[in-house]
Amino acid sequence: MTESPAKKRIIALHELLNQYNHQYYVLDEPSVPDIEYDRLMRELIEIETEFPELKTLDSPSQKVGGAPLKAFTQVTHQVPMLSLDNVFSAQEWQAFDKRIQDRLKSTQDYALCAEPKLDGLAVSIRYENGVFVQAATRGDGTTGENITENVRTIKSIPLKLVGDDYPPVLEVRGEVFMPKASFEQLNATAIKKAEKTFANPRNAAAGSLRQLDSKITAKRNLAFYAYGIGYVGGENEQDNGQSWLANSHYQRLCQLKTLGLPMCPEVKLLKNTGEVEAFYQDILTNRQALSYEIDGTVFKVDDINLQEKLGFVARAPRWAIAYKFPAQEELTTLEDVEFQV
Ligand code: NAD
Repeated sequence: MTESPAKKRIIALHELLNQYNHQYYVLDEPSVPDIEYDRLMRELIEIETEFPELKTLDSPSQKVGGAPLKAFTQVTHQVPMLSLDNVFSAQEWQAFDKRIQDRLKSTQDYALCAEPKLDGLAVSIRYENGVFVQAATRGDGTTGENITENVRTIKSIPLKLVGDDYPPVLEVRGEVFMPKASFEQLNATAIKKAEKTFANPRNAAAGSLRQLDSKITAKRNLAFYAYGIGYVGGENEQDNGQSWLANSHYQRLCQLKTLGLPMCPEVKLLKNTGEVEAFYQDILTNRQALSYEIDGTVFKVDDINLQEKLGFVARAPRWAIAYKFPAQEELTTLEDVEFQV
């Protein structure tokens, strides 16, 4: 392709992807299957890689999520909530690994925290002196929606942390999702009442969480797994809360678990990259038996010092990757998605 058709195609892809983003993130009403969205996004990234001068700051490839809904008050994230880059094959995973080694200028193997990729909604929960004070959606990564009252209704999220070993301010990052059984029950009830059904548990979780009436959220049986830490603050400049943090991502999740936050039982610390493929295959094989929907696995460099060396790109950390499963959902009809905000 020469530059002129590339430019035209980029404009068309921006338009399409912006439209799909709005439908998915703002309206909770996707109009195309994820596989189609991912295909178009890949095409955009490939053209931008070939013609870097055509990559603009407002490209969908550089953005996280969608704008927060005006119906909610807004929350500015002190630590941005980013997305994840994707790989879809062992070969692409190896290319990710090579980029890590190149960047670290090291051929040394490294430990990884391996996690299922939960198919729900990213949420940041803020505890001050151990008390739940605020919850927000990811939004566009910088500004999210204040959904405190809705998240407060999720039974597995502690309103007070367990024990007394935590920093004065602690932001917990994780996924709110709807377990498969709750999703099936919700749709069965909707069918009985001749109401609209949700296309999948992700949409059901998003629609349930972004309700203006938290009594509706309370009835929806949502669940939560923590998968990271956002802002941490202390009493003063000397004691900024950082000393509380373990130097391993996996250990940090265990710290959250000790405080009473739910941690996904499938999460595993891998000693080296040689264990990645087995974890991916194992989760893929057991996918149906899990009580919650996933769309892949996530691998994160475990050592926080290495994470800091690797840093971030515009929309995702360089130290983590989503190794996604082949799509199932071409079979899912996207016609009957509920939108209730
Ligand atoms: P993503 O879902 O691919 O990955 C990032 C998100 O993964 C995080 O924000 C978090 O919510 C989630 N996550 C789940 N488990 C996690 C774990 N263990 N650790 C860390 N994060 C975890 O990225 P995205 O930016 O939210 O969405 C992009 C994807 O959404 C696309 O690849 C596509 O599949 C779908 N999408 C579809 C449409 C559509 O029209 N069908 C539109 C937009 C996006």
